[in-house]
Amino acid sequence: MAIPARFTPPKRVLMGPGPSDVAPSVLQALAAPEIGHLDPAFLTLLDELRAMLRSVIGTSNELTVPMSGTGSAGMESCIVNLVEPGDRVLVGVHGVFGQRLAEVARRAGAEVVCVDCEWGRALPVERLEQAAAGRAFKLVCMVHAETSTGALTPIAPFRELADKLCALLLVDAVTSLAGVPVEMDGVGADALYSGTQKCLSCPPGLAPLSFSPRARAVLEARGTPPQSWYLDLSLIARYWGGERLYHHTAPINMLYGLHEALRLALLEGLPERYARHRRLSAALGLGLEALGLRLLVPPEERLPPLTLVELPQGADDARIRRRLLEQHGLEIGGGLGSLKGRAWRIGLMGASCTEQHVLLCLRALTDVLASEGLVEPSPRALEAAGAAF
Ligand SMILES: *Cc1c(COP(=O)(O)O)cnc(C)c1O
Repeated sequence: MAIPARFTPPKRVLMGPGPSDVAPSVLQALAAPEIGHLDPAFLTLLDELRAMLRSVIGTSNELTVPMSGTGSAGMESCIVNLVEPGDRVLVGVHGVFGQRLAEVARRAGAEVVCVDCEWGRALPVERLEQAAAGRAFKLVCMVHAETSTGALTPIAPFRELADKLCALLLVDAVTSLAGVPVEMDGVGADALYSGTQKCLSCPPGLAPLSFSPRARAVLEARGTPPQSWYLDLSLIARYWGGERLYHHTAPINMLYGLHEALRLALLEGLPERYARHRRLSAALGLGLEALGLRLLVPPEERLPPLTLVELPQGADDARIRRRLLEQHGLEIGGGLGSLKGRAWRIGLMGASCTEQHVLLCLRALTDVLASEGLVEPSPRALEAAGAAF
């Protein structure tokens, strides 16, 4: 075969639902020389990383680790470690990721009670309570930040529901972590997972996960081992805990990268980081509205790191996104599920959440939509965002 040339990625600005742009110092950290996964220097990095991760998640849970794999590996780890065949699991579904949680729980042998709710809105806790009909559950699952629709749901009411149902509370914080407050201990979540390529602005490949002492007790009291050896947290905890017992080779460079990404988040300050996402997403929203576009999530339920915006009448979704990519180097996301072809998803996550990103996106959209004859060519979107800065 002809050996291809060394790969050089094109220059892109990532404003989709993830991955987000990666900060230069994180890219540098990823390219540092390899050392062994049991090297004392590496073990120091792991301890530092875990302390920073606890701080970003807002927890003192001992069992807090980055799992090898993407966000979905974090989801699957939580489910396979907590669920035994026949356990009843309640899942609120208001987008793609709730659907995925339900499917993973079904495959783990759970009796899943799936509560289908409106897409593009926060998850209504009372609907889950009705569906539970007073039965006891092993697990209540909710997606904090539904990236498929851009809706943010407060966690605390689901803690109360889980208490009523004698259940553990499992939270998907893939898109919320480091972009909006999560406060795992404050809200009383028992199990939480995330991913690195959304608001942490690291490449995909690790899934931060944390179990409360109560979730850990459920794990330790299992009658059968989890069906996945690779994701078995009782084995993985022995590498991350004091024993340093080999389970699988840690993805060393990915962990260098996450260490640096967590450092950047803490150096910025979490409250400042959350405020940045709120402020710039509000400016983006005003710019999009000035362009004549409609935001589809009600203002009080919007997720700052991800904006769902309706396509203008007659717009060709695929052609417009291809032009944004080819002419402006800009990636935004299409709609998923029932929103496919009807909405775009614009991410403002971590390093992709700056004034320059907001302006670039509005400039590119104005240019492409105007040349498609869908909006007036005018600087009003940029002016609206600029005024909001
Ligand atoms: C991205 C995402 C996932 C899945 O993560 P992958 O890294 O794609 O495996 C799960 N839940 C939510 C809310 C997400 O945004």
